[in-house]
Amino acid sequence: MDEILGQVLRNAVWERLDMLAELANRADAPSLLSVARSELPRLTEGWRAMLAAHEPDEKGNCPACSSRWRQQKAPCSVWQAAYEHLVAGGLAPTTQPARHANRTRVTHSGRLATGTR
Ligand SMILES: [Zn+2]
Repeated sequence: MDEILGQVLRNAVWERLDMLAELANRADAPSLLSVARSELPRLTEGWRAMLAAHEPDEKGNCPACSSRWRQQKAPCSVWQAAYEHLVAGGLAPTTQPARHANRTRVTHSGRLATGTR
């Protein structure tokens, strides 16, 4: 994938996430219910597909994050992010926003952490 196409793809995903966050914050209850019914299955399927690619192999390494020269032990950063956002963050999503922002900056190029769109 060339660089421009990659940028277009990333922007489209960021914009989709922005739109969903905006809906969660501002939509009325009927609209929110409709969005939740259509988007939650898509989000869960997306997580499942991504996590399946990062399942550890028989040696306990992540095949997606490992290279020929460097093996990445499981759980890799994708699984760690999944646990933090889906399990740990799901229990208390607003208790530690500063820590959450720092992790977002490390893993997503600073766009969310800086608040620039
Ligand atoms: Zn991985």
